[in-house]
Amino acid sequence: MKKLFTCIMATLILFVACSKKETPKSEVPTENAKAVKTIGISMPTKSMQRWLDDGNNMVKSFEELGYKVDLQYAEDVVENQVSQIENMISKKVDALVVAPIDGEALSNVLESAVAKNIPVISYDRLIKNTDAVSYYATFDNFQVGVLQGTYIVEKLGLKDGKGPFNIELFAGSPDDNNALFFFDGAMSVLKPFIDSGKLVVGSNQTVFNQIGILRWDGATAQSRMDNLLSAYYTGKKVDAVLSPNDSLAIGIVSSLKAIGYGTPNQPMPIITGQDADLPSVKSIIAGEQTATIFKDTRVLAKRAVTMTDAVLNDKMPEVNDTKTYNNGKKIVPSFLEKPVSVDISNYKEILIDSGYYTEDKLK
Ligand code: BGC
Repeated sequence: MKKLFTCIMATLILFVACSKKETPKSEVPTENAKAVKTIGISMPTKSMQRWLDDGNNMVKSFEELGYKVDLQYAEDVVENQVSQIENMISKKVDALVVAPIDGEALSNVLESAVAKNIPVISYDRLIKNTDAVSYYATFDNFQVGVLQGTYIVEKLGLKDGKGPFNIELFAGSPDDNNALFFFDGAMSVLKPFIDSGKLVVGSNQTVFNQIGILRWDGATAQSRMDNLLSAYYTGKKVDAVLSPNDSLAIGIVSSLKAIGYGTPNQPMPIITGQDADLPSVKSIIAGEQTATIFKDTRVLAKRAVTMTDAVLNDKMPEVNDTKTYNNGKKIVPSFLEKPVSVDISNYKEILIDSGYYTEDKLK
């Protein structure tokens, strides 16, 4: 009996041992076996803080997901951006995230991305005239303009019948698709008051081509404002300035201060902006610039990273707009994040309580 039992046990052990197939070494999955992918990020310029934040936030999120990142800034020179992207493509990055300087200037270089199957995500600004771009992560750019226009209308009390008031209009860089959206959004709110005479554009310059500031250059905005003030505002005051972003607003503020605005007898006009860049938030606290639009770069960066990661894993990224952004070759599926209007009354809540800035940064 005992012998029989031992015999059965031995057979069983042998059976189990034989049936347990050894995994060959080469099939054992290791972390190293999963090649690390590299993302090329091409940003327009370091001269505005927002693009630095966008870049840094994306690097952080991509690295958290295990990607390597090649982040380049082109100092607002189109040729730099083209050659930086060319380099990234020849180094065979796995995906490109690009905020173009000139939306129309990348069609050729991106042809080689298509040839190498490198997906391209358009970041904040639309890349035009190419079908190389797969998705677009941005803010609701029309709404940015609506918020700027609405701010002016409310602060002046136009809906309560107040006026007429004098206003001057500025727009962003003509080669940036966003600039048109901002302008159209703002004009959708302001134009009825211009038409009814409650808002008077002293210079009569109301067309995009007359008021666009190439490359969003603050110094150019400053000198345009100097010219407007001396040509059209002797003996009268300007009550509001539509500035599409913070870099222009800072130039406009300097121009106004230089001829005596910002004193109790001659208060600053209402001046809008966009980006909640540090110099502008400080200027709002100091009572010079009046408002800005906050576009949380943490949120946009995360959105672009999630989109890129989905594309690289053959998944469909989440989008919430499939009709607005026609780039001339295709309608680019987009995700539009939400912009928020900020002024002295809510900057603490929106910018500090959310952890975007610490209070000491604003001193
Ligand atoms: C961006 C703005 C920025 C401007 C200048 C636009 O495309 O959307 O946030 O102020 O470029 O850099």
